Amino acid sequence: MDIHEYQAKEILARFGVRVPRGGLAYSPEQAAYRSHEIGGNRWVVKAQVHSGGRGEAGGVKLCGSDSEIREYSSALFGRKLVTRQTGGAGKLIGRVYVEEALDIRQELYLGLVLDRTSERIMVVASAQGGMEIEELSEEHPDAILRMTIDPATGFLEFQARELAFGLGLQSGQVAEAAKIFRACYRAFRDLDVTMVEINPLVVTGDGHLVALDAKMSFDDNALFRHQEISELRDMSQENPVEARAADRGLSYVSLEGNIGCMINGAGLAMATMDMIKLKGGAPANFLDIGGGASPDRVLTAFRTVLADPKVEAILVNIFAGINRCDWIAEGVVQAFTKAEIKVPVVVRLSGTNVEQGKQILADSKLPIATADTLAEAAEKAVAAVAARQAA
Ligand code: ADP
Ligand code: MG
Repeated sequence: MDIHEYQAKEILARFGVRVPRGGLAYSPEQAAYRSHEIGGNRWVVKAQVHSGGRGEAGGVKLCGSDSEIREYSSALFGRKLVTRQTGGAGKLIGRVYVEEALDIRQELYLGLVLDRTSERIMVVASAQGGMEIEELSEEHPDAILRMTIDPATGFLEFQARELAFGLGLQSGQVAEAAKIFRACYRAFRDLDVTMVEINPLVVTGDGHLVALDAKMSFDDNALFRHQEISELRDMSQENPVEARAADRGLSYVSLEGNIGCMINGAGLAMATMDMIKLKGGAPANFLDIGGGASPDRVLTAFRTVLADPKVEAILVNIFAGINRCDWIAEGVVQAFTKAEIKVPVVVRLSGTNVEQGKQILADSKLPIATADTLAEAAEKAVAAVAARQAA
């Protein structure tokens, strides 16, 4: 799960990271009002969307008066910000963050990620901040420092100082930098974080180190033990179909193609998507209905797949072990009466109660294509899409 910049800053500040003074706003008036609370005479207005690259996309602006803040933020609210990370659809701006503008002397990069090779948290830092890390690793690979942390000892003071010296910081700033590095590590470890990125971490004109931007992602599977973090979820920033599926306990991943897939188990889903590709088609998604799916759950799965306008045919491929083919078939039949199905449906059932399942489909007299093998099912689904497009 991702969170907003202002939320990440609030969390990191609790762990001891210095952040600029700022306030959140849900309206242009509130944004203008924030500038008075913050004080000073220069502010930065920042669109809060789950994405980096907002600056170059026009989502961050330096303002010199409250009327300028009001004007700029009214242009932001309700708009979708398209950055190089969001894809063409962009992300809705529903909140802006107003911050004191800082005098920046130097921009650094700091990131903490899970390194799967060493099975440890890795700290990545560079004296060349501001740029995205992907760009940085292409253009200045030598300017990136990496350090993996032993979980038994944690991030030790001397290691943090070593990293700070490696960045070429002045001795006066080393202690502050080391404090920030270790604070990020503690936040990462304590909150089941999967990524923290401060880009840029800046040295201000008066020599302090401040997190000017902050990004954090959390391990979804650990959210149950961090109630206060899961409350930070902002559904408006998520793919609506994926969010809806997750709320209903279905694993759903949206893809580019046009064949909706309803499958039990990730392995079978992979094989099905491969087969669709092999037959010349492209999957629109990956929906895993899991084990022991009731007819109701199948109906929910249909509604989820149908919520994606790209879907031009649906392929149901079930290898029932814990599942029961008769329940799946009943769910498919119910879906025809309760959900508006205007696309061809191909069903391939195998395993527990397969004969009953097939009988239910046959008795329904509904326009459901059936198949005995995965290859046949994929072929039929691809052909159905082609026929629809030709018509
Ligand atoms: P993004 O990474 O999404 O583009 P950032 O928060 O990194 O957004 O902001 C982009 C740039 O805007 C920063 O690199 C910095 O130069 C400038 N900036 C952001 N916040 C401030 C601030 N409080 N004071 C001064 N400049 C800022
Ligand atoms: Mg940034």
